[in-house]
Amino acid sequence: MHSKVTRALFDEYMVPNYAPPEMIPVRGKGSRVWDQAGQEYIDFAGGIAVTALGHCHPALVDVLTQQANTLWHLSNVWTNEPAIHLAQQLCQHTFAEKVYFANSGAEANEAAFKLARKYAHDRVGPQKHELISFQNSFHGRTLFTVSVGGQLKYRQGFEPVPAGITHLPFNDIEALEKTISERTCAVVLEPIQGEGGIIPADRDFLLAARNLCDRHDALLIFDEIQTGMGRTGKLFAYEHFPEATPDILTTAKALGNGFPVGAMLCREEIATAFNFGSHGSTYGGNPLACAVAAKVLELIADPDLLAGVLTRHQYLVDALKHANDNAPVFSAIRGQGLLIGCELMPHFAGRGRELLMQALDAGLMVLVAGPNVLRLAPALNIPEADIDEGMTRLSSAMQCFLNDGGT
Ligand SMILES: *Cc1c(COP(=O)(O)O)cnc(C)c1O
Repeated sequence: MHSKVTRALFDEYMVPNYAPPEMIPVRGKGSRVWDQAGQEYIDFAGGIAVTALGHCHPALVDVLTQQANTLWHLSNVWTNEPAIHLAQQLCQHTFAEKVYFANSGAEANEAAFKLARKYAHDRVGPQKHELISFQNSFHGRTLFTVSVGGQLKYRQGFEPVPAGITHLPFNDIEALEKTISERTCAVVLEPIQGEGGIIPADRDFLLAARNLCDRHDALLIFDEIQTGMGRTGKLFAYEHFPEATPDILTTAKALGNGFPVGAMLCREEIATAFNFGSHGSTYGGNPLACAVAAKVLELIADPDLLAGVLTRHQYLVDALKHANDNAPVFSAIRGQGLLIGCELMPHFAGRGRELLMQALDAGLMVLVAGPNVLRLAPALNIPEADIDEGMTRLSSAMQCFLNDGGT
């Protein structure tokens, strides 16, 4: 028995590193969520690009329930069938030949960065340890991943941070040419910068990065934690640029559709640098997580589902443009598939969270990506009727936002 859970208890008991709104969601189904008071919301946030198949997808509930009645956990002292099955599936669907399992995006990246260093260290020597990453990028919140990430605010106050990391302007081929050297072990990037404001990498930049890495014997790492698992209309975003296929790819977020799991994928030759005892995780490859993820992968790799992402992209972007004609608040609407960023006009700069709260009041869950960009990452299978209802609610929020702005 416990007393009613209230938002006030959050402030009483939780470390104050988050600032959630007053309402507490208690239930979800598909692209709809309900709070404690029974108020219904349309979900255009998807748990930050996580619930790609919607809340409580029946096939995933089935798989999870079955696995929960079979085997929960062993540790990596033993292996398990769901983990091997998932690894095999991931390799069959991608360039990768080997997989390492983690429990989150940051952990998958941590493994990728450590592997890049170890691979260079063992083959060439300790001087080949430098990582090149990009301004505004986001790679997670562990000390190594905030250090590789290109946003100072996530690193400040946590110094000293790991050394040997350079941050260059994103999409700047010349800067990369000038900086990459025989000391570079890897270049790390997001095909579309997510948290940084939904900034797509240019095709030419990706091709140049691939060529420069080859020329300097460095690895190319794609952080596809947000762009992967169907989000852009391909299973992974690198498939849009086959000539720039990475050496290492990380995925998490939608991989578990809400069950915590992450993975690092790589070519076989690179994988050998992680030999017995090099790296590990107690939960990594947990049977519950892997059973769910294998089903998620099967459902998302379906060509019809992926084609539906492109249809929904066009439908949602058209609706956003229409809403913006009636209540002009955005200067740009960009992104790919169902990862869409709406940039606020310069005179509304810094007010993204305000619009997010107004959308919530209208019954719509959305995200921001930085202070100036409203971010939408709905489920890949969101029904048209839910897009319509969500857009009705967003339009009225945009109208309120405009009216507030005028006073
Ligand atoms: C969310 C995200 C991460 C971090 O994932 P966590 O599961 O929160 O650790 C890393 N990289 C990118 C691109 C992300 O979007």
